[in-house]
Order: sequence, then structure tokens, then C-alpha cells
Amino acid sequence: MSWADRGGARAALVVALVLAAALVLLIVVRIPWTVLPVPPGGHAPLDPTAGLTAAQIDRARSFAAAVRPVSLASLLLSVLVAGVLGLTPLGARLVVAVARPFGGGWIWQVLLGVLALSVIGRLATLPLSAYGQVVYHRYGLSTSSWGLWLRDVAVATAISAGLTALAVLGLVALARSAPRTWWLWAALGAAGLVVVGSFLYPVLLEPAFNRFTSLPAGILRSDLLTLAERNGTPVRDVLVADASRRTTALNAYVSGFGSTRRIVIYDTVLRRLPDRQIESIAAHELGHVAADDVLTGTVIGSLGAAAGVALLGWLLSSSWLLSRAGAAGAGDPRVVPLLLFLVAAGTLLATPLQNAVSRQIEARADIHALDLGHDPEAFVAMQRGLAVSGLAEPDPPAVWQWFFGSHPTTAQRVAFARDWERLGRR
Ligand SMILES: [Zn+2]
Repeated sequence: MSWADRGGARAALVVALVLAAALVLLIVVRIPWTVLPVPPGGHAPLDPTAGLTAAQIDRARSFAAAVRPVSLASLLLSVLVAGVLGLTPLGARLVVAVARPFGGGWIWQVLLGVLALSVIGRLATLPLSAYGQVVYHRYGLSTSSWGLWLRDVAVATAISAGLTALAVLGLVALARSAPRTWWLWAALGAAGLVVVGSFLYPVLLEPAFNRFTSLPAGILRSDLLTLAERNGTPVRDVLVADASRRTTALNAYVSGFGSTRRIVIYDTVLRRLPDRQIESIAAHELGHVAADDVLTGTVIGSLGAAAGVALLGWLLSSSWLLSRAGAAGAGDPRVVPLLLFLVAAGTLLATPLQNAVSRQIEARADIHALDLGHDPEAFVAMQRGLAVSGLAEPDPPAVWQWFFGSHPTTAQRVAFARDWERLGRR
């Protein structure tokens, strides 16, 4: 590769590598690689089909066979479209064309360019998403009407395109005013945005998709509040989200910090699970709070974002890449399609690492749920119930689980409970 500014490019690469090393160090220190000691007599064996009927196994497998090719095709298509727009002058021409009616200034080129590229990317995969939605309906996993589904797609695309446009505008503006060191300031900015975003996400984005009501006073509510007290992380409220408008999925989470912390439960959970299992889910979520997983995730995310931007600083000084994209440099709005492609490709490449970290964090929260709830039967029944209602494949292909699995498999989670019992931690 040849470089427009060899010294600047090398500095960006060095900073990216230093940040990546810090990221690895943080992961090693903050993420447990073993969550339970080996019990006397060894680990409980994995039995993916235990507790499931033949009909449940068939249904989960046929659902996976129907939906997996769609997800994979959609992912590949979106990277392909980003690649065609970012690695040929096609995207650059589009950026120039959409801003022409507004006078063609660089700010319009960036803002409207990002919006146009986002909409094109979304439209390209829309037929596949719609087909996926048909499969979800057919298997009874989605309850969303087509109107609500389209509204969700539109809102999500608008929010993500709008935020991306502002972030890219900031980056191009920095590159125009500090052509040699923009990537350093942009890396700091990206790290800061991840921190702000993780605080604002529950406040701004949750209400865009769901409505919340307080769980009325009763045994479940007081049990959950007591569980949170015992966890040392009191919550202000227990909220019910109207998730059943869209999905049959069962889920719960804890959001907010300190005095705004609350447990959120999907209404689907309330309707379908007995109280003991709901408490087991809440105990898992409180495990994330006890281990400060949101903070860890935020710091990992900031370091990752900063490393990624420094890497962008290196890549965007490559004359070879810039000439493919038909752009003069990072301060040229015609760089936007290349920038979006590099971000999409980088995000995809980081997925297995991100999921490996996530699986360990989830495993730790599972052990916490067992320690806090002391109810392995409810834990196992809850895991199996979630798997059956979500049509989780009992034994996903190892490579799929490695790349896309954000949680341990159900069989692994059931084995945690068995190991926990064998260790006599009751
Ligand atoms: Zn979790």
C-alpha cells in the first residue's frame, strides 16, 4: 500500500495497536474464563435434548433451518452492498449527487450521503427481513402486524442513520480542520460517545419501542424488590414492558444506574412463567448489576471504538483505498461510503470476539443467579422454558455458536446448575 502521509499513517497504526492491547488486557482482567471450579467427579455432561419432547426438538431444528440462511444472506448482502458502494466510485458519485439540489456543500454531502447510503443498505436487505418476519410469524414467534413491523424498521433506520450522519459529520469536520491528527481526536470522541450512549440508551431508545407500567403491588413485586435488596443493588421500581405487541419472546433486564435502577420484565414473561422462574430470570439480571457488567461493557466498547477509529485513521490514509473509493482523503465527503464499509466490515470481524466476551459474562450472571436464588430447579426449568418458547436450537453448529452465540447454549446453562449442585453451593 502507498500512503498519502506515511508518518501520520504509522502513528495511527501504533495507537490502534496500543489501544487493542489495552482492550485485551482489560478483557483478561475483567472477564472470568472459568466461572465455576471443576466439581468432584467432573463437569456435568452436556445433554442438549434433555427435557425436550421429540416434537419440540423437531420444531426448533426446522425453525433454525428456515431462519439461519436468511440471517446469513442478509448479513452478507449488507456487507456486499457496503463494499460495492465503498470500494468503487459509485458511492462517491451518489454522495455528490444527493447534495447537488442543496448547493453541493460538504456538510450536505456528508449528511445526505449517509442518509442515502443507510436507506439503500436497508432497502437492499428489506425483502430478506420481510421473509424472516414471515418465518417468525409462521412459527408463532412474532405477533407484530406488518404495519407495526414497517414502523419499527422505519424508526430504527431513522435513528441509526441520523446518529451515524452526525458522527460521520464530526469525523469529516475534524479531518478537514486537523488533516494529520484528526483520527486521534475522533478516537477520543468515539470513546466518549460510547459512554454517553450507554447512559442515554435506556432513557431515549427504550421508550421509542415499548411502553412501561409499574408491576402492581403483590407477592411477585415484593419478592423481586427483596431479591434486589439482598443483591446489594436496590431498584426503584419493577416495570412491565408491553413486548407482546411484537413478540412472544420471554425477556427481562435491569436498566438505569443508582437511584434510577429498575427491573424491566416483558409482559410475555408475566403471562407464561411461574413466579419462581421469573425470580430466577431477575436473579440473573441482578448478577449483571452486581458484576458491573454494563460498566465493563461500556469501557470495553469505548476502547474498541477508539481502537477502531485509530485503525480507520491508518486505512483512510491509504492511497490505494482512497483511489478505489474516488476520494481525496478523510476530509473529502466522498470518503463516506468507504468509511461506512470499513465500519461494517470491522464490526463483522469483531463479532466473534464480542460474543466470546458476552458468553463469559452471561455464564457469570448464571452462576450469580444460582448463588442468589438458591433454586436450581427453577433455574433449569426457566432455561428450558426460554429455549422452548424461543425455539432455540438444542445443539447449534459449533461454528455458528462461536460466531453468533451471545449466550451459552441451553445445555451448557443447565450443566452450570448441575455443576453448582455437585459443588454443594446450595
Ligand atoms: Zn444476561
